[in-house]
Amino acid sequence: MGKATGFMEYQREVPKERPPKDRINDWKEFKNIFTDKAAKIQGARCMECGIPFCHSGLEIGGMVSGCPVNNLIPEWNDLIYKGKWEEAVRRLLKTNNFPEFTGRVCPAPCEGSCTVGLNDPAVTIKANEYQIIEKAFAEGWIQPEPPEFRTGKSAAVVGSGPAGLAAADQLNKLGHQVKVYERQDRIGGLLVYGIPNMKLDKEKVLQRRLDIMEAEGVEFITGTEIGSEISLDNLKNDFDAVVIAGGATKPRDLEVPGREAEGVHFAVDYLKANTEYILSNNNKDYISAEDKNVIVIGGGDTGTDCVATAIRQGAKSVNQFEIMPKAPDARQANNPWPEWPKTLKVDYGQEEAIEVFGSDPREFLIMTEEIITEEVAGQETVSGVKTIKINWEKNENNRFVPIKQADTQKIWPADLILIAMGFLGPENNLIKSAGLELDGRSNVKADYDDFKTNIEGVFAAGDMRRGQSLVVNAIDEGRKAAIKVDEYLS
Ligand SMILES: Cc1cc2nc3c(=O)[nH]c(=O)nc-3n(C[C@H](O)[C@H](O)[C@H](O)COP(=O)(O)OP(=O)(O)OC[C@H]3O[C@@H](n4cnc5c(N)ncnc54)[C@H](O)[C@@H]3O)c2cc1C
Ligand code: SF4
Repeated sequence: MGKATGFMEYQREVPKERPPKDRINDWKEFKNIFTDKAAKIQGARCMECGIPFCHSGLEIGGMVSGCPVNNLIPEWNDLIYKGKWEEAVRRLLKTNNFPEFTGRVCPAPCEGSCTVGLNDPAVTIKANEYQIIEKAFAEGWIQPEPPEFRTGKSAAVVGSGPAGLAAADQLNKLGHQVKVYERQDRIGGLLVYGIPNMKLDKEKVLQRRLDIMEAEGVEFITGTEIGSEISLDNLKNDFDAVVIAGGATKPRDLEVPGREAEGVHFAVDYLKANTEYILSNNNKDYISAEDKNVIVIGGGDTGTDCVATAIRQGAKSVNQFEIMPKAPDARQANNPWPEWPKTLKVDYGQEEAIEVFGSDPREFLIMTEEIITEEVAGQETVSGVKTIKINWEKNENNRFVPIKQADTQKIWPADLILIAMGFLGPENNLIKSAGLELDGRSNVKADYDDFKTNIEGVFAAGDMRRGQSLVVNAIDEGRKAAIKVDEYLS
């Protein structure tokens, strides 16, 4: 253990982010790294517990608690404190193929179960992870390391999100020849066309990793949809095993009058078009929020990304609707440590809205009843949204249902509506054409223990198997599916 009394001597400090009033003027990342000295102090706060819940990745109270890839957190915190950075990155890469992604975008369930967090603010685990990997890149310690031998076996990976990339990386390291197929024009899944550039830079961060993987021997094929352009049967004939990691990208729709009007879009379509615009050096069409009243329906992280994007595009106003109640500021008695803390988060998009418009854009316990339209150039176009406030009450089956509150209807002016209401599972093309079996939640059926689908030699991982989730869970699934594929190939 680095410093036995560190957690008593030092306070939690995170690297300063770029201030909202600066960062809303560009699409660059807003998070910064520590100085080495500051990171050392934060590393010293780790108690190196006998039973470190932070790296457990257990499901407690129906939610993940601790790091899903089981990062060896106390070990690398200690190494940071001792200034042994190269050892720290080697330890980090044992469990996580892409700490530069999680260090930026992970919601850090590890910190919710940090023992220091029982009495004081948790250790800055996520910022430490980010620091280790960025220092390693800056020092030139991360170089392509192609496998020393090839097994003569091959695997195809369908989908290039974090699950597919982690599976490909692991299988390639084991010496199998790996080809990744992606239907989009770019590799990365939601890392490229979901999460906005200000959270994860596509050229500097994502491409940096893809270049290394390519130099290590992974082949990437873009613009090819498996299930239509190439059948799964053909892929099975050409490769010894197949991993499908196509994500869970079917969006939940808003079923209200006016939904088909001009100006109503799914959040991911909006975010993707904006990223394409940025990556094309402003040479592509995008859905603009400039001078518009924007309503984001959905209070989750995707909704927050829409808020931040609309602000950067110059929206006139931004409101974000959430059907659930406002979470408490601190843990409640029924949500004890080390469970994931169900507390109110003011994320980057809300911080920016507060800076620009003077208040948090979120409205809680609100339901959309209708999208109001008017005819513009012969087309039904959004002009407003009608909402009503709700309460959640138990019905006769003991289930919570939304109950509308009388006299709480309100009309909001709106020119652009973004639907960020979650996802319903994987899309159907590949599933139907290949005859893949689904589970009760309409995800591809495969157990977490073995990742095998109903088709011999075909494994499923990531959101396609578990439903829309987190980057760190996708990496975990890709890694574990690769172990099962390797066993199958051996
Ligand atoms: C807007 C948004 C923001 C998010 N922000 C965060 C965040 O900040 N932090 C976090 O941890 N998580 C975040 N998530 C969730 C996270 O991105 C996903 O859980 C994760 O990317 C899932 O990884 P995956 O590899 O399973 O699938 P995906 O990333 O969805 O990748 C699947 C890929 O498969 C491709 N594909 C599908 N079918 C085929 C086919 N038949 N042939 C070829 N290719 C195919 C798709 O085009 C896609 O590129 C966010 C999600 C969204 C939508
Ligand atoms: S991957 Fe996420 S949960 Fe794991 S250590 Fe990093 S921030 Fe924490």
